[in-house]
Amino acid sequence: MTTAHQDCCADAHDHNLTPAQARHHILDAINPLTTLERLALREGLDRVLGAAMVSPVNVPSHTNSAMDGYALAATDLPSQDHVDLVMVGTALAGLPFSGRCEQGQCVRIMTGACLPEGTDTVVIQERVERLADGRIRIGAGGHSGQNIRQAGEDIKTGDIVLSPGQRLTAADIGIIASLGIGEIDVIRRPRVAFFSTGDELRSIGQSLRDGDVYDSNRYSLYSMLKRLNVDLLDLGVVADQPELLRKVLLDAAATCDVVITSGGVSVGDADYIKPLLQEMGTMSFWKIAMKPGRPLVFGHLDKAAFFGLPGNPVAVMVTFYQFVLPALLRLSGQHPQAAFTFTARSRHAIRKRAGRCEFQRGILQSTGHGQWQVTSAGHQGSGILTSMSRANCFILLDETCDGIKPGDLVEVQPFAGLI
Ligand code: AMP
Ligand code: MG
Repeated sequence: MTTAHQDCCADAHDHNLTPAQARHHILDAINPLTTLERLALREGLDRVLGAAMVSPVNVPSHTNSAMDGYALAATDLPSQDHVDLVMVGTALAGLPFSGRCEQGQCVRIMTGACLPEGTDTVVIQERVERLADGRIRIGAGGHSGQNIRQAGEDIKTGDIVLSPGQRLTAADIGIIASLGIGEIDVIRRPRVAFFSTGDELRSIGQSLRDGDVYDSNRYSLYSMLKRLNVDLLDLGVVADQPELLRKVLLDAAATCDVVITSGGVSVGDADYIKPLLQEMGTMSFWKIAMKPGRPLVFGHLDKAAFFGLPGNPVAVMVTFYQFVLPALLRLSGQHPQAAFTFTARSRHAIRKRAGRCEFQRGILQSTGHGQWQVTSAGHQGSGILTSMSRANCFILLDETCDGIKPGDLVEVQPFAGLI
């Protein structure tokens, strides 16, 4: 308890932000892009709609049958026993019955066929009997308007079907096609530059000297960014040299909407990102009361938003999902929603000190009937990237939590849709 209290005070002294405050602050500082581009509909998946989609038509365009059967006037439905009707024609999808159906008559009708004039009800074929003389026998039990799809029951002419800021899903693309629209206006994609910093980093294909590591952050960043459908500029590995970093940062900020780096954001002798941002742009903060992920630099370089992520590979992924992702959603014109979380029962005790949030890696398993339990994905060090690979969720432990007992409910954020 004493240790937790001391931790808290140390954090307060350093003016740490909570993750929620940091996210709020970041979203406040991001202005959504507004430039539009016109695309063929098929190119629109995962793009952000730039203007409201107003329907020029009714969907469906005509009142039609929802089933295969017989169309008739509801006034011909028997209230008891049965009625025998004369079949006067057939209506197929795309091939309407052109005549009028009078009292005592019916029309053979298939799913999707326009409802013939004089009819307002369909009796499914399984519930009729074809008599030897060709007439159709219909029993009691039907009701007026059954098995009918009304013109415009899905979408009416003039309805706003999709709103600006919606990321287009497969269903949305289908809806736009159902309106007969083949081109759409979407918001241009954010252009994102990223690079890794560190004298110890080697690229794939190079050999490792003592103390070197392969640069993995650029690959996980590339992959997370690719999922977001942004325009990418990979600037490679940049050594811990201020002149070099200054030049790459300037070039990146001149051509991109967002610049992301990993490494060099602490207060070590080779950590130049923070002073460079202070010198060349604006720096909004650099410490967040979270684990992993402290410290993190956010600010602006010219017009570009800047994220200086920590160097540790797990911290890169956690801070990306908690901060960069919502920022990119907002920049791209979307309206970021609260993270999708729910509660699951922890199978194990989890050790934690109060005073900062933790984003532990967990493995969610169904126990059936919509219940979930979560297990730790193993060693939680911020350099243990295999913990991210094994996990399928974050276990979110807030700053007040001072440990979890086996069987306690914990908040989890599934990776589904994230990773
Ligand atoms: P730093 O934040 O630069 O002090 O880096 C923290 C730790 O993360 C160090 O152990 C680095 O070697 C490691 N690290 C930094 N950048 C990368 C990277 N791009 N890929 C893999 N590990 C990295
Ligand atoms: Mg470094």
